[in-house]
Amino acid sequence: MQTKMLINGELVAGAGDALPIIDPATGREVAQVHEASAEQVEAAVRTSEDAFERFSRSTPADRSALLLQIADVLESHQDELAELESLDVGKPWPSARDDEMPLTIDTFRFFAGAARTMTGSAAGEYVAGHTSMIRRDPVGPVAAIAPWNYPLMMAAWKLAAPIAAGCTVVLKPSELTPLSTLRAAELLNDILPKGVLNVIHGRGLSVGDQLINSPEMEAITVTGSPATGMAAMRAASEQIRHVHLELGGKAPVIVFDDADIDAVAETIRYGSFFNAGQDCAQPCRVMVQDGVYDRLVAAVEAQVKEIRLGAQKAEGTEMGPIVSAAQRDRVAAFVERARGSCEVVTGGAAGDGDGFFYQPTVIANVDNSAEVATQEIFGPVVSLSRFSDADEAVRVANRGRYGLASSVWTANVGRAMDVTSRLRYGFTWVNTHGVGTPEMPWAAMKGSGTGCDMSVYALDAYTSIRHVMLAHG
Ligand code: NAD
Repeated sequence: MQTKMLINGELVAGAGDALPIIDPATGREVAQVHEASAEQVEAAVRTSEDAFERFSRSTPADRSALLLQIADVLESHQDELAELESLDVGKPWPSARDDEMPLTIDTFRFFAGAARTMTGSAAGEYVAGHTSMIRRDPVGPVAAIAPWNYPLMMAAWKLAAPIAAGCTVVLKPSELTPLSTLRAAELLNDILPKGVLNVIHGRGLSVGDQLINSPEMEAITVTGSPATGMAAMRAASEQIRHVHLELGGKAPVIVFDDADIDAVAETIRYGSFFNAGQDCAQPCRVMVQDGVYDRLVAAVEAQVKEIRLGAQKAEGTEMGPIVSAAQRDRVAAFVERARGSCEVVTGGAAGDGDGFFYQPTVIANVDNSAEVATQEIFGPVVSLSRFSDADEAVRVANRGRYGLASSVWTANVGRAMDVTSRLRYGFTWVNTHGVGTPEMPWAAMKGSGTGCDMSVYALDAYTSIRHVMLAHG
């Protein structure tokens, strides 16, 4: 198993503490990965700065070719990478391979094209005797911090856009789930020029903190919790840095009386419990118009009771364990606190065995201001609450702290247009939930962050607009 980091084109063992890597389905240690020492973080940062001088001058065509090669090498190793991901996060196999790897690979193919779209918006004589041009140039070395829920896909989002823009990257995967990223780093090292990608391992408060506070890093990009986003903003405020944040979510699913109730219930089964609910866009806060509330609760209960909980490769597994004991306990605590005021319709207990299993859980009769309706649980728990009309639904949804994913379910096109236009969420689906494609932005508003991943707009976080003026005389 590849457990070394990548610094300056060399695979090196971390010189810091050994951190255990646990299989969430058994609770057993499968590897130990040493974290970076302070000197190793410094070396990665310096290398990234040196490599930026050269890489930022590569042509878009060169970078596009590199990104296509990366996609090809990941594709030819997709079974191996999915295997690591499934083991490390507890993802059901073959979902790790068939649902996640295609989007991970396609992210690099999309940004291979996007690399060649960067243009300034104007050139001309705005002052007599002078020609002005607007350039869009790479911002500098990027400190990238990734979470544990989709380790390789989030690494892809954190790498493809900055590389397309001409930036170098020091990437830190989550200390819980580094295996797929470390193996991918080994593969990418055969493709990328030395120093363009450095991957370091370690905990957030030590290695991550040092990385985001390094003066050589010109931009910080984080996918993680709001607390880590705040740490990045504090670091950026000390040094004046670009910051791009994709943080938590609490996606409202707004179901009107005329919605297709079976379609909603099926989407909740397959969307809310995918990846054991550890998904920032998880359809978790179901808001139902009074007329169909009881019918939807019954339909969701029937669907969710069918979900088979199990280990990654156990026959028929639809949902795997939660990533760690700590996260499982956190999820369980939310459900226990809700019991006094809500009804646990199904689930609400740990699963069998030594792994970190938690049953798929549905909580009904939830007040719109209850903790389970407003706080991110990040686990296999769905809440159902009521609303009476569109104005109330929009008001309640917009009052939430988060602003990432949302969906609206109705047969009325005019109502769909009206409600989607008023929601303050980075993305809103109508009559579906969770479908992503690299052409479209994964955009954050409010407490969910700034800017977006994917789409050509992701390049904004890694480029600066510049003005160059030439005097004619
Ligand atoms: P986390 O914030 O605990 O950890 C994320 C990363 O940040 C890890 O690599 C961690 O080591 C690092 N980190 C923690 N503290 C740090 C610090 N002070 N300085 C620098 N780095 C630090 O988040 P998590 O538990 O891994 O992931 C779950 C969170 O991520 C959820 O809130 C989820 O909604 C969010 N998420 C968001 C998106 C999105 O696209 N918006 C996608 C996936 C996950």
